[in-house]
Amino acid sequence: MLLSKKITKSGSVTLPRSMRQETGIHPGVPVDIETRDDGTVTIRKRVMSCFHCGSVESVVKVSGIEICRNCAEKIWEAFNGKQ
Ligand SMILES: [Zn+2]
Repeated sequence: MLLSKKITKSGSVTLPRSMRQETGIHPGVPVDIETRDDGTVTIRKRVMSCFHCGSVESVVKVSGIEICRNCAEKIWEAFNGKQ
């Protein structure tokens, strides 16, 4: 995904929702920001985060998707009904 954005006066850039959903970079998720000599800036999650809610607690990777226990339990309940 490639998008063009402008940096704000404070140096911020907003990641579009689609990009946040794709990467799991939600509010509160710690990221590393790396610059290179060619001018490239890379933003990378430092830890796994739930693709749905952005939680970094109790996250596992299943079939390439990072999901937290709470969201996994909601999916489980949707299929099986509340226990
Ligand atoms: Zn979650």
